[in-house]
Amino acid sequence: MPELPEVETLCRQLQIKICGEKVLATEIYDDKLASIKNIKGHEVTAVEREGKRIVIVLDNENAIYIHLRMTGRLLWQKDSVKPKYGRIRLTFPNGNIFLDDPRRFATVEVLKKMDNDPSKDIFKAFDLKSFLGRHACRKTSVKTLIMDKNAVEGIGNIYACEILHRVSINPERPAASLTKADWIKFFKAAKVVLEKSITKRGTSISDWQDLYGRKGENQHELKVYGQEGKCCSQCGGIIRRIKQGGRSTYYCPKCQK
Ligand SMILES: [Zn+2]
Repeated sequence: MPELPEVETLCRQLQIKICGEKVLATEIYDDKLASIKNIKGHEVTAVEREGKRIVIVLDNENAIYIHLRMTGRLLWQKDSVKPKYGRIRLTFPNGNIFLDDPRRFATVEVLKKMDNDPSKDIFKAFDLKSFLGRHACRKTSVKTLIMDKNAVEGIGNIYACEILHRVSINPERPAASLTKADWIKFFKAAKVVLEKSITKRGTSISDWQDLYGRKGENQHELKVYGQEGKCCSQCGGIIRRIKQGGRSTYYCPKCQK
């Protein structure tokens, strides 16, 4: 499933391709998306990310909200030949965007553009004070907390493991055991890890591809995720895999305390 860096990669690529362009036509191939309308003839004024949603803002106060979920992928094509699992096509003067989605869980909605609360997004106006007040006293594990989108938006499993390794924090520690200084360090590291992945156009562990069908390159940068049994780059310890809340957690027991 695409995480924040992958969605941000798509948004940045879409901005370059479609901002200021008019939607000339739409074609819907999937009945589940049949209610989509009010797009044709409108100009794209912005492409924004809200959490893990892609928001294509139109000049009629509406926006196209896309959540890729499990297997959704946006593809840019010069030609209008439908990809195998194409569900919708948006045609612009310079090419076409397809939503290709084998499992059909991705959602596309046209809604009135709403203001979004950016206080949980670490790339926007993240509100550390509010986070500390509401969540820092919780007994839940630090990894579970940082993946809870009611607390922080945009940190999924891969990046949760990578960020905790970077700041040498054991993923099983209770959130309440971290000091304010630990959290400041954590969110600083989170930005670095996520920004680095964006510059590498995301992590292609399973089937992530960018707007042009290319794999990302951040999988070559991972320090712990998927590295079970290998040596830790920080201390030489052996990386372990454990289960937390049904998900795999990778960490180094030697340097993550
Ligand atoms: Zn280590």
